[in-house]
Formats: sequence, structure tokens, C-alpha cells
Amino acid sequence: MNLTNQLILANGPSASVLEWTDKVTNLAYIVAALLFILALAGLAKQQTASRGNRFGMAGMAIALIATIVKAVVASADDTENYNSPVVTLLLIAVAMIIGAAIGIPRARKVEMTGMPELIAMLHSFVGLAAVLIGVNSFIQKSESTEPVAGFNLGEIYLGIFIGAVTLTGSIVAYLKLSGKIGGSPLMLPGRNLLNVLVIVVSLVGMGVFIAAGIDNPALSWTILGIMLVLALALGIHLVAAIGGGDMPVVVSMLNSYSGWAAAAAGFMLANPLLIITGSLVGSSGAYLSYVMCKAMNRSFISVILGGFGADSSAGDDRDYGEHTEVSAEDTAELLKGAKSVMITPGYGMAVAQAQYPVASLVAKLREQGVDVTFGIHPVAGRLPGHMNVLLAEAKVPYDIVLELDEVNDDFGDVDVVLVIGANDTVNPIAEEPGSPIAGMPVLKVWDAEKVIVFKRSMGSGYAGVQNPLFFNENTDMLLGDAKQSVEAITAAL
Ligand code: NDP
Repeated sequence: MNLTNQLILANGPSASVLEWTDKVTNLAYIVAALLFILALAGLAKQQTASRGNRFGMAGMAIALIATIVKAVVASADDTENYNSPVVTLLLIAVAMIIGAAIGIPRARKVEMTGMPELIAMLHSFVGLAAVLIGVNSFIQKSESTEPVAGFNLGEIYLGIFIGAVTLTGSIVAYLKLSGKIGGSPLMLPGRNLLNVLVIVVSLVGMGVFIAAGIDNPALSWTILGIMLVLALALGIHLVAAIGGGDMPVVVSMLNSYSGWAAAAAGFMLANPLLIITGSLVGSSGAYLSYVMCKAMNRSFISVILGGFGADSSAGDDRDYGEHTEVSAEDTAELLKGAKSVMITPGYGMAVAQAQYPVASLVAKLREQGVDVTFGIHPVAGRLPGHMNVLLAEAKVPYDIVLELDEVNDDFGDVDVVLVIGANDTVNPIAEEPGSPIAGMPVLKVWDAEKVIVFKRSMGSGYAGVQNPLFFNENTDMLLGDAKQSVEAITAAL
């Protein structure tokens, strides 16, 4: 340990050490914030995504070190209100070790298919942290002898409110995405009125809370308690009312909420980096929600208010006739004679982990002169960009992976479409007004000359809607696990 550290630990830092620590940590925070912005910019494209991730990791490492140094120096300076620097360091180390012991094995084990629910779970932690920081800030303010500004009380109140909505909303999203509870929307009578009522009561509560301040703790704590219960209930209700098909937007919306909750925590802790990072996450999550709503042709407000997919029985009891099955060997024959093949993957490709055999099949077909492209639906899979990540992992060339808008008018020119584990995203019923997924853009695979659908059964997809595509004359079903089917085709080729 060098002399300065020994001095700090023994006598507390001098004013100049404190000043320098402040300057250096503020500089480190600016560098970290810039790295986070570069990370977001990098993550916008597959080609630059891993570089973006590295920027993010570097920014987070700098932020962590700066925060730990700041905490240790601050605790050395103010031994009355803080633990000793050694205890502070120890507490931080213990928290990090516990977090790492839980987080690292969990992150190593998680399958790509389990990412959305893991993300939802992590959002709930941000919400919980914001609630705890809010409550802690109010306790600190109540104990301090200094006057408290109404603005600070407002921050605390809002931070707890947003945190509580994020907490329970994310838990419900986790339960839905992991299939622990059903995906169908909860339709309480007058549900929109209930939401508005909770928001109005909470806003009135905020006025009373600010007016009561720290001079009337009994009233302030009562108001905080009531608001907390209402916000927790609102989080549950908001997400429970959202049906299967809209879950992607909910995941990005909760991402946005968790950012605002972190920004609120940043205000409470007077930590500029947390404010910047929270705002970056909050605004990028909100923008992503907007982009996804546009991709699904849904209004953001109607998604938030819930109810999509409510009438999931529509179309289910109709008789679409018989489906036709095909073998892997016959599919291989068909592919041999094809000039152009389009692959539209979906959640089933992720479940089967079929991306590697799909990449080998594509390589083989391209060797034989077949023009192969991918058509990616914006909400295929269970999280934004799910398919792109899987295909990149399997080293499928980026330039043949195209978006819905780029391919949807071209299916008429395609000889064979391979629908690998996709269902809702290729469901023509979306074009029928009144159907549960009406208005959602879908890949018009049925315009191709021949469609082969890879799935295990005739069951429905995530939105619980029957798919008439399976019964079309130009559609054949290749039933079985997608990975095995693709491997069998490659072998036959
Ligand atoms: P779907 O969930 O509609 O369909 C997937 C299909 O894959 C199922 O019909 C299933 O049929 C089949 N499948 C599952 N396992 C296998 C396997 N091992 N081998 C072969 N097939 C398999 O997926 P899509 O990608 O088409 O649509 C995504 C849906 O998920 C949309 O409704 C979307 O709104 C929703 N969603 C998307 C999110 C996102 O951010 N992208 C997040 C949350 C939800 P079977 O069981 O018969 O095999």
C-alpha cells in the first residue's frame, strides 16, 4: 500500500485528495459515458456489434473502478456518516463476489432461447434497485438536519414509482416469456380506467408527499407506502394485459422503463454517470419499442394499454382441410432443381439450435449454384434481432440475410421457401381484418412456387393462432425436429 493510501486510511483524505478524486472520477465518468454511446452505436449493426460490446465492457470497467475509488475516498473523509474505508471496500467486494457467483454461472448456462426471460428478470433488478435507493434516500433526507427541496422529494417519489412498475412488470414478463404463466392477456373490466385511476391517485399522492416533506414523516411514509402498493399493482396489470403477440414490444418497453428507473436513481444519488446511462437505456429502449411497433403495424399506445391477441380463438375452429407431408429426401430433390431458395427462420430454429446445420446447408446449396437468401421478420424468435444473432453465430454471410421490407415483394420469384421453425411471422391470417394478429406485417412466403414448413407438429405459434399456410396447396410440411430435418437434407444432397 503506498503512502497516500496509508494516509487516507489512517487520517482521512486531505481536501486536495478529495478535490482530485472528484475531478478524476468525473473525467472517468465522461469517458465511460462516451464509451457507452460508442457501444450503442456499434450494437446497431451486426458487423460492429462485437466491437460495440467491447466498448460497453470497457466503459463499465472504468465506471466501476471510478465509483469504488470515489466511495472509498468519501468514506475516509466522512467517518461519521460512512463506514471506514476498509469496511466500505470489503462490503463492495462481498456484494460483487455474491453477484458474480450468481450471475456468471447463470450467464454461461443460458441458452439463446432463454435470453428474453433473463433480460426481463434483469430489468426487474433495476426496478428493485431504484425502489431501494428511493426508500434509502428518503430515510437519509429524514435524518439529515438540512432542509430538503421539493424537487428532491419529487425525484424520490418518481424513482420509487417507476422502479416499482418496472419491478413487477418485468417479473410478469419473465413468467410469461418462460411459460410459467399463460401468455393470454388478462382482460379486467374497465382495465384502462383502472390504470388511469392508479396514475391519477399516484400523481395526487406526489403533491401531498412533497407538501408533507420530512416535517410530517407519518403522512409521508403512508403516502409512499400507498403509492408503492399501487405502482406494484400497476406493473403487474400493465404487463398481464398484454397478449402473446405484443410481448416483444413489452420487453423493449420494460428495457426503457428500467433505464428511466436507473436515471431516477442517478438523480437521487447525485451520480451523473447513472443519469446519463439511464437516459441512454431509457431513450434507446423507447425508440426500439417505437421501431418494433412500426414493424408490427401497431400503435404504441394500444400495445401499452394491452389486449392484443385477446380474441385468439378467431380462425382456430375453421376447417382448413388436409395438410401434405414431405420427407427430407424429397425436399433435397426439390432443392437440387431450384434456382432460388429463401429461408425464413423463426423461434423453432432457436429451440432446435438448427443454425449450424442451416449454415452448412446454405453453403452446400451455394456451392451448387443455388441463389440462397434469408428473409428475417423483425419479431421472429423471442427477442429483437434473435435470428440475426443466431445466423451470425453460425457464420452465415451478412449480405444474404435480408429484412422483411427487402424481400416481401420478391417471394413470387422464389422457387422454394424453407420456413424453419417459424409460424406467426408467416401466418397469412394477419391479413384478415379482425384476426388476433390482424395488421402485423408477415412474410408472404405463400407467393413462392413451393413452401416447405419445418416444425414438429401442426400446433400453433406464440400468439396461439392457427396457421392456414400449412394447408395451402403449394405448402408441404416437413414434420420433426428442425435440426435433424436440415441435417437429413444436407446428407441427402
Ligand atoms: P412462433 O413462436 O410463432 O413459432 C415457432 C414454431 O417453431 C412453433 O410453431 C413450433 O411448432 C416450432 N418449433 C419449436 N421447436 C421446434 C423444433 N425443435 N424444431 C422444429 N420446429 C420447432 O415463432 P415465430 O418466430 O414465427 O414468431 C415469433 C413470435 O414470438 C411472434 O408471435 C412474436 O410476436 C413473438 N415474440 C417475439 C419476440 C421478439 O422480440 N422477437 C419476444 C416475445 C414474443 P412445433 O411446436 O409444432 O414444433
